[in-house]
Amino acid sequence: MSGLSQRILGLKVSSTIAFNAKVLELKRAGVDVIAMTAGEPDFQPPPHVLEAANEAIRLGLTKYTASEGTRELRDAIAAKHARENGLDYGADQIIVSSGGKQVLYNAFMALLEPGDEVIVPSPYWVSYPAQIELAGGVLVAVPTSADQGFVPDPELVARAITPRTKAILLNSPNNPTGAVYPESVVRQIADLTELHDLWLITDELYEHIVYDGEFVPLARYYPERTLLVHGASKGYALTGWRIGWGCGPLALVKAMGALQGQVTSNANAVAQYATQVALNEQELTAAFQARTRAAYLERRDVLVRGLNELGLPTPTPQGAFYVMADTGRIDADENVAAITLLERAHVGVVPGTDFAAPGFARLSYACSLEHIETALERVEGLLA
Ligand code: GLU
Repeated sequence: MSGLSQRILGLKVSSTIAFNAKVLELKRAGVDVIAMTAGEPDFQPPPHVLEAANEAIRLGLTKYTASEGTRELRDAIAAKHARENGLDYGADQIIVSSGGKQVLYNAFMALLEPGDEVIVPSPYWVSYPAQIELAGGVLVAVPTSADQGFVPDPELVARAITPRTKAILLNSPNNPTGAVYPESVVRQIADLTELHDLWLITDELYEHIVYDGEFVPLARYYPERTLLVHGASKGYALTGWRIGWGCGPLALVKAMGALQGQVTSNANAVAQYATQVALNEQELTAAFQARTRAAYLERRDVLVRGLNELGLPTPTPQGAFYVMADTGRIDADENVAAITLLERAHVGVVPGTDFAAPGFARLSYACSLEHIETALERVEGLLA
């Protein structure tokens, strides 16, 4: 007997983090690996945000903040969602946490009773099932297919609803598929949550990384029972700064705040100030987002074309910075394919297994064009 709790013994290690760690280990050993594992912008944050962090230190904004986040940052978040998404939140309906991940975890802990079901279109991000299970819940997957651009069918979502369903979780632009859900689909699923008196949790972290079509604010339709999850990691290139936020009904946000107050107090004070400046300096930030989006788009096109030409069928995603490549030509088992790519081609990817995407690998193209071209050459060499 290990003495560890059943809860922890049943917990899976995050495969995005695990495969990224393998890449880092090889790099430390001097191997020239191309990391297409963790979804992390290779860009530095924009200069006005870096300067804001320095300013926070100079101003001595280095103490604990209110557990739910500074009032100034929550006001900036409210203003951002009003301006960009037409959503109306008071500062007391907003909680700032250490990354979108903690917002989600707080929400599952605040909402789920043992056995409660959360419906999630699959493929889904690896941490959803783990977090839902830690909170005692059960993830119910509603499969989507590459043929349909990985967009969920509201009809299938409706069929998955049972008396135990507590919430539906939507993520668009999607990690790992890059799908951007059309308005009609979001509306129909929001209608279902309203009809069945469920919660809607919307993960909108990739809002600013949409190439084709239009970003639809998922929280727009049923705000009384929706928790919007957002953060600074992806669209603002602030991954390591760990700032996420949740916006929703007061009672839920307060419950999440009570949990956070006992667990981590507040998110990093300096990063909160820098995020506030990122949100308030709207023009500078939008210019940064436009520039990085254009770079991702160019990379996407090179990577998708290259993988398809190599016989690894890869649909063109509309948003985020991931592609899902069918790795059947390398090995029928996606884990073997991912290990082969890492060890023999020195290209780090995440196998589809924990995304509920057997037969696929997720490749992040938030790395330079040069790296993408080299990765394609190495895969070609491997296949030859
Ligand atoms: N969200 C990113 C990813 O999917 C970062 C790693 C993680 O938190 O899972 O790669």
